[in-house]
Amino acid sequence: MLNFFDILYPQKPYCISCNKRLKPNEYILCNECNGKIDVIKPPVCLKCGRELGFSYQRQTTCSECSKSHLHFVEARAYGHYNGVLKKLIYEFKYKRRREVSKVLSEKMVKTINRLDWPKFDWLVPTPLHVKRQRERGFNQSELLAREMSKVLETSLFNGLVRVKYTEHQTLLDKSSREKNLEGAFDVIKKQDINGKRLLLVDDVYTTGATAEQCAKSLIKAGCRDVFVITCARG
Ligand SMILES: [Zn+2]
Ligand SMILES: [Zn+2]
Repeated sequence: MLNFFDILYPQKPYCISCNKRLKPNEYILCNECNGKIDVIKPPVCLKCGRELGFSYQRQTTCSECSKSHLHFVEARAYGHYNGVLKKLIYEFKYKRRREVSKVLSEKMVKTINRLDWPKFDWLVPTPLHVKRQRERGFNQSELLAREMSKVLETSLFNGLVRVKYTEHQTLLDKSSREKNLEGAFDVIKKQDINGKRLLLVDDVYTTGATAEQCAKSLIKAGCRDVFVITCARG
């Protein structure tokens, strides 16, 4: 029987990925589709979290990271940006199914709990430009960070802001993305992060240009260090 809550927030009873009817113990995604997610497996690059493949036995960084100096300490992601996970993120961001943030954030917390990361003072959502946020109606990273903050018992720092509007970056290569993002972020309420450990939250890590620019701005603003967690890695 429907209760008042069900009427206010009706749950779609079908799997977001395969459209099969969900069983009572399933939420948004059926167990079968959940099992198909292409989870990132070790060994990974110590810096950016890229899956290295089994030929790498030693603890090492990937060839790209060994050439560059990145401002964040480590970035890790839950899964590869394809198949079921890509579909989940698509429905979340572009079909505005906010409830998907619950499923994604759980996976991100699981990923963090497997790492020996320190305790963080703040979770920092990767900001959208106000114009983009108005188009979408919400900031996906903020929803993810908000869900994570309940479990991790860590508050959100909302002082990282995006001051430069950039067109969609999807089609740009790494160096164009970097150029495009220069001066894109600013930090307000700097005193709140002075000397603090931060965990930057985003939905997808693609070239790492966004994470890098955010980390750079946060370090410049006086924080101690920045780690990065994303749901997927493109
Ligand atoms: Zn399914
Ligand atoms: Zn790397």
